[in-house]
Amino acid sequence: MPVAEIIAVGTELLTPNKSDTNSLWLTSRLNECGVEVKLKTIVGDDSLRLEEAVRDAFGRSEIVITTGGLGPTEDDITRKTTAEAVDRDLVFHQELLDDLRRKFKKFGYEMPEKNRQQAFLIDGAESLPNPNGSAVGMLFRSNGRILVVLPGPPRELKPMFDEYVWPVVSDMAGGVVVVRKSLRVTGLGESRLDELIAPIYTKYENPATSTLFSKTDIEVQFTATASTADAAKALNEKLAHEVAGVLGAAVFSDDGESMEVVVGRALSEKKLTLAVAESCTGGLVAKRLTDIPGSSDFMVEGFVTYSNDAKTERLGVPKMAIDKHGAVSAEVAEAMAAGARDRAGSDIAVSITGIAGPGGGSREKPVGTVYIGFADRDSCFSRLLNLPGDRDLIRWRSSQAALDLIRRRIMNRDGK
Ligand code: AMP
Ligand code: MG
Repeated sequence: MPVAEIIAVGTELLTPNKSDTNSLWLTSRLNECGVEVKLKTIVGDDSLRLEEAVRDAFGRSEIVITTGGLGPTEDDITRKTTAEAVDRDLVFHQELLDDLRRKFKKFGYEMPEKNRQQAFLIDGAESLPNPNGSAVGMLFRSNGRILVVLPGPPRELKPMFDEYVWPVVSDMAGGVVVVRKSLRVTGLGESRLDELIAPIYTKYENPATSTLFSKTDIEVQFTATASTADAAKALNEKLAHEVAGVLGAAVFSDDGESMEVVVGRALSEKKLTLAVAESCTGGLVAKRLTDIPGSSDFMVEGFVTYSNDAKTERLGVPKMAIDKHGAVSAEVAEAMAAGARDRAGSDIAVSITGIAGPGGGSREKPVGTVYIGFADRDSCFSRLLNLPGDRDLIRWRSSQAALDLIRRRIMNRDGK
């Protein structure tokens, strides 16, 4: 397996305000084609340090990729410095200058003289075209090694890497292709999930299986290695199918989609409309659903009814129910859902009422006590959740549980 190093160039990347995301992206791409990243460096716009970093990296790793510092300004030193690090001159290319002039003209500008330096390449390097900017990249080969010099802006770097660097790197890796697939699972704890699926995935070395925990959900990730992408995909599909079989309705996505996208699509497909009534989540469910383009197909109305009066006035929750059972109760959650359905005139409504904390909990109803209500044309019920976490997490988990309830209900998968 060839070894790669990434060097991110830019003084801004050494401040607390800007992260080096290019390295993460490049690492994932390199891993996919069977290359291991052994070292990442961030260097400011400092010629001496950059030259040293590139020289050292190229002395020990087969693949060295730099990002950033290819612009036309004084602090853009990567072009010149990488040439020095590999003991080559920078050579002027008239055709690159002509291209640059054309690019500027297309947008109605004369090319500033400063941009002329972007027409220089390390002697012997290939130029990597940049349809999204003025900085061409470079690919320099020496003794079976490559030094790849890419621009900093992610929208310029990514297509350049995919088009011109990926084939070279993947060839160096011997044509091995690594493909990932994940199942997103909700409503199951970590150990229960592993109990269910370990007997299956431990039978396989390829794909390798890993489980990642995020704020509400578990992602079961399969990584297959094969000589072609199709073969790797087939390995993943087979194992994912077996694993999904034992997890049943807990799997909400097998291609990385978010819960709101899955729910939105299901509502649209079934031509069902939705209203939401939210108390402690303050509109989070409505926000997540309306983040999806096309949500007007199914979303009718969202009520944020925070106070008791609002619940009564906007949704018709009986004051008696609030007095008797409290605003955080099954009765109120159900009345909120039914009220939202009736007032919005939707097919379905969900509601959330709970205690997100940090204050407001009691012995009977501690922080994390959340009721999710559901109403459709012929039923109305609620669920009690006892959610762990801080205020943000409790609110997020409540929104996820409400969306999941809609999903299970309309897909007829253990809704109730
Ligand atoms: P440069 O190529 O150094 O002129 O960088 C141009 C812009 O690209 C910077 O202002 C950043 O916004 C972005 N950029 C540069 N390096 C990185 C990096 N490693 N990760 C993410 N963004 C970057
Ligand atoms: Mg820079």
